[in-house]
Amino acid sequence: NGQLATAPRKKPLLRGRSGSFSHLSKDGRPKAGKSDEGPIRTANTAVTVASLLLNTPPLSSSPSPVLFRLRVACQSFGTTVHVSANAELSVNGSETCAAQAAEQITYSLPMGAQGNQTDGQLLLEGFPAIPFAVAHSKVGSTFIGSCGRWRYTALATPHWDWRHSVERPTEGKAADLELAGGVLSVQLRAATSAEVKRCCQQQALQDAQETGDYDELHAQLTKARLASVDLEHLERAEEKLKLMRKQRMHVAAGCGKDELRQQMSWELITAPQGSDTERPCPVTDCPCNEPCNPGEVLSIISGAVDQCLGPGADRLLFESLVEAALASEEGSVWPAGGKLIFSAFDRNQSVNALVRTLESANQQRCAQMMLKLVQSSEATYGGFVSAVQVNFHCTGESFHDQHRDVYGAKQRAGPNCACSFKECVGTVCYSLGSSRLCRLCSMVDSFSALKPCGDSCQGREEHRWLRSGDAMFFNAKWNQNHTHGIPKMSSGSGPRISVAFLLGAS
Ligand SMILES: [Zn+2]
Ligand SMILES: [Zn+2]
Repeated sequence: NGQLATAPRKKPLLRGRSGSFSHLSKDGRPKAGKSDEGPIRTANTAVTVASLLLNTPPLSSSPSPVLFRLRVACQSFGTTVHVSANAELSVNGSETCAAQAAEQITYSLPMGAQGNQTDGQLLLEGFPAIPFAVAHSKVGSTFIGSCGRWRYTALATPHWDWRHSVERPTEGKAADLELAGGVLSVQLRAATSAEVKRCCQQQALQDAQETGDYDELHAQLTKARLASVDLEHLERAEEKLKLMRKQRMHVAAGCGKDELRQQMSWELITAPQGSDTERPCPVTDCPCNEPCNPGEVLSIISGAVDQCLGPGADRLLFESLVEAALASEEGSVWPAGGKLIFSAFDRNQSVNALVRTLESANQQRCAQMMLKLVQSSEATYGGFVSAVQVNFHCTGESFHDQHRDVYGAKQRAGPNCACSFKECVGTVCYSLGSSRLCRLCSMVDSFSALKPCGDSCQGREEHRWLRSGDAMFFNAKWNQNHTHGIPKMSSGSGPRISVAFLLGAS
């Protein structure tokens, strides 16, 4: 392959002048020079001379060609540097750089073995390998990071266990790279918070791609897009989703039309008797037992749907939403955390996207009702509806885990939550169909303003019935101090739809 066999794999010879090893023959012994006639006088003299003429550099022993000079500058942390390439490189300089320091390292190619370009990887401690190429001719290319780029910022963050709702890492490293004029400059610094987010979301996107769960990958792609993950990663995930759709992986179990038609029938709705229950913290004067803390609003308004849309509107809205789901492209109903969501096929949860979906399913009346509900919610509670979620609870087995709604960047969403609301005044959720219990729990974690009564604070827990046509509203302050959820019903339940609006500050 034209490489000099004498160049060792790891320990480069060329610490100083390169002339010393250009006079070694392939077996490592001194090679013919002007005054040394030994080897030339052997039987295959002609061959030896010819190969010497073709392969050896001029006897003036010019230095071997430099691949690049790597200039590394470290801010808050040091690093080790290593460059591997498709040719044996010799290294001149220290491949370790301390914090607050800078180094220059020269990487040289073996003589006579260049080709059109050298491909390699830059290895920085803690970073994924960074590909590069250096052109040696017009047909070769030069880049760092990815094809066609001379500038690139590599990011590294600790592994993020997003599937278990572990909080996203807040710190990471960045390397600003530039490859030009024979110099590869590497500036190491702490990553900005936007970079940390981007890097983490890219990891989650990669993880989701490897598992091949359509719903998960779809959700992670949305989040990766919001975090401005590199286009090439987004495109790769999109390709994968497309492929999965071809294999009908987007129609989850329980989301087929026959099953939906059977389960989501108004004839099956249940409305058992029962009253709300409350379990306070055993410590009487515990802050959790305060029914309403300063600034909190929580209210359940019965008959809100009929008040807005006229008598019997709860059934009408229920049935036309089911009709719309059955008339929409398969995959518009998808599982999310114990229940199903009906949305636009692309899972965009804006009001416009839902209204378009309803209209194209020939449910103009349903679309009108939905818009009127939006209008009246905004008029009653203030703000504007920034997102809508239509949940299908097909049976008593369905549930919605205890959670907070996500309004601000500070809060952590569930692992697949694709919401990204800046500011919000609260949530209003309309119930249609079967009655279900809603579980409300006071919280004393770091998000909450409530202080526990002691180490063994049990908090307060309520179960409130949500019946067909009811609205439940809570504001951001209540959301901060409590979680809400819909537990499974062990006694069984018929179908229920909830229409939840996130109200953003206008
Ligand atoms: Zn919620
Ligand atoms: Zn307590």
